[in-house]
Amino acid sequence: MTSDLDTLIVGAGIAGLTAAAELRAQGQRVLVVEKSHGLGGRAATRRRDGLRIDHGAQYVTVRDPRLQARVDGWLTNGDVAVWSHGVPSWDAAGGWRAPAADAHPRYVAPEGMSALAKLLGAGVPVEREARATAVRADGDGWSVGLADGSGRRSRSLILTPPVPQTLELLAGVALAEDDRAALASVRYAPSFAVMAGYPDVTLPDWPAIQLREHPVLSWIANDAGKRRRDPAAPASAVLVLHATAVYARARFDDPLDAVGDAMLAAAAEVVPWAGAPAWRDVHRWRYALAETPLPEPVRVLAPGLVAAGDGFGGARVEGAFVSGLAAAEAVSDPLG
Ligand SMILES: Cc1cc2nc3c(=O)[nH]c(=O)nc-3n(C[C@H](O)[C@H](O)[C@H](O)COP(=O)(O)OP(=O)(O)OC[C@H]3O[C@@H](n4cnc5c(N)ncnc54)[C@H](O)[C@@H]3O)c2cc1C
Repeated sequence: MTSDLDTLIVGAGIAGLTAAAELRAQGQRVLVVEKSHGLGGRAATRRRDGLRIDHGAQYVTVRDPRLQARVDGWLTNGDVAVWSHGVPSWDAAGGWRAPAADAHPRYVAPEGMSALAKLLGAGVPVEREARATAVRADGDGWSVGLADGSGRRSRSLILTPPVPQTLELLAGVALAEDDRAALASVRYAPSFAVMAGYPDVTLPDWPAIQLREHPVLSWIANDAGKRRRDPAAPASAVLVLHATAVYARARFDDPLDAVGDAMLAAAAEVVPWAGAPAWRDVHRWRYALAETPLPEPVRVLAPGLVAAGDGFGGARVEGAFVSGLAAAEAVSDPLG
């Protein structure tokens, strides 16, 4: 068992990579273990036939000055771009509505939203396809068992999966009752994402459509409009559809194909050509958005044991970033 780590971080999403990079910059020996092959977690980008498609987080909004400073640097380098200042909305009764005039910028990454995680976690060592299966107290530190039967030991441990998954990892740790109850109170809305390609349709002139009071869809994004392109070459449309939480809960276990058909039919009510793509992929998100995050940016469960991620503080990408910074602070060595 490896035992020379200062901090082990479970999860290479926005929160985990932010925390890891911060601690590494302070001189800590850190390691991130990530169950998937890719980085970014729900800041997710799928590659398909040379395309990049954001099927998780769609854009970032910023209020925290520390995130704004990062975004400003990324803007300068072209790693992010301002996508829109608000998006139009649609509802069956009132039709289309323009975005509010003072809507704040929505930032996107032309290379796909997972690029943000890579920027935040630059230089951080990550073991991919390494699923943590259990956590236990181990002397003055913590041990994490991995699915391949190996384990990692560290002085401090930061857990950044969606909170229900963090609670599963903590099944063998004696938590204070109020901590366990607080973690158990964090719920997430599920969703489905449909990614659909329309080679014969040119790019729509809207960035996305927010659907209001719709029984199936909450969002239709003009995903190809986020990518860098040669202005002389006509680009074809790629849409990303997101299901409402109510619809996703009702149909969560249904076959993905049937869900995809229903979501595309719903999109065609708003965008008539959307119902007949040349190709489509469907993704099921068990934990999409934190609905009841805890107000604090992290929860310190025991000395050196911290739960973090978008289930804490402000939720969303920005909340995950702020939580990652707070997690690093919680396990940083005050003596430097
Ligand atoms: C459909 C959808 C749309 C969204 N839209 C937006 C948006 O427009 N704007 C916005 O700001 N936010 C949006 N979000 C939310 C945003 O993506 C998340 O809030 C944010 O990315 C969460 O980051 P995180 O690091 O807290 O968690 P995650 O991204 O979930 O990262 C946790 C990581 O832990 C890994 N992991 C889990 N369990 C284990 C384990 N046992 N062992 C090892 N690794 C493990 C996961 O694979 C994952 O990589 C959206 C999310 C979804 C799904």
